Amino acid sequence: MQFVLASHNQKKLRELREILGGLGIEVVPLPDDAPVPEETGDTFEENAHIKAQSAAAFTGLPALADDSGLCVDALGGAPGVHSARYCEGTDGDRNALLLQNMAGQDNRACRFVCVAACVFPDGRSFTVRGECQGVLLRQSQGQGGFGYDPLFFVPEFGCTFADLAPADKNRISHRGRALRQLAETLQAYTT
Ligand code: IMP
Repeated sequence: MQFVLASHNQKKLRELREILGGLGIEVVPLPDDAPVPEETGDTFEENAHIKAQSAAAFTGLPALADDSGLCVDALGGAPGVHSARYCEGTDGDRNALLLQNMAGQDNRACRFVCVAACVFPDGRSFTVRGECQGVLLRQSQGQGGFGYDPLFFVPEFGCTFADLAPADKNRISHRGRALRQLAETLQAYTT
C-alpha cells in the first residue's frame, strides 16, 4: 500500500521508510508542485492534520505528516507550534532567545512533542502523539542533533539530546515514540 509523506525533507522520508518498510507500506515523496499549506493550527494535531489533508487531496493517496516542537512549562507551552519560527535566523538565534525569555526562571521543566497524522482520501484520519520530558539548561551542551537539542537535558541519561548518538535519541525521543505508534496504528488499518 502506498502512502505519500507530506514533506520535502529527505531525512524524514528515509526515517519513515525504515520504520514502515517492514509493514509492506511504501512511502513516496510529495510531488514538487504540491501546494504548501499554511500551518494555521494552534495545536500540533491541527497542523499535522492540515499538512496530511493537503497532501491527500493533491495526490489522491493516503498521506502522512508530522508536526513537532518544544514546550516549556514556565512559558505556558511556548515556543510550542511556533518552535521552527520562534525568531528569524539560525537554531543558535532561537536558542539564545529562549534562554533570554527564561532568564531568572527556576522552573526549567519542558518537553518535546511530536504528532504524526494520517489522512485517507475517503476522509478517515487519525493522529498519534509522542512526548519526551526534559529540563531546559542555562547554556548549550553537546555537539550533535539540531534545533533545541543542546538545551534539552534528559535526566535519565544525564546528558542533552545533542550529546546522544542518533540511535539513542531515537529510542526515547518524542519523534521515535510517535513514529513507532504510527507504525502500530497503521498496521491495524492495513491488515
Ligand atoms: P517541524 O519540522 O515543523 O515539526 O518543526 C519542528 C521544530 O521544532 C524544529 O524546527 C525545531 O526547532 C523543533 N524540534 C522538533 N523536534 C526537535 C528535536 O528533536 N530536536 C530539536 N529541536 C526539535
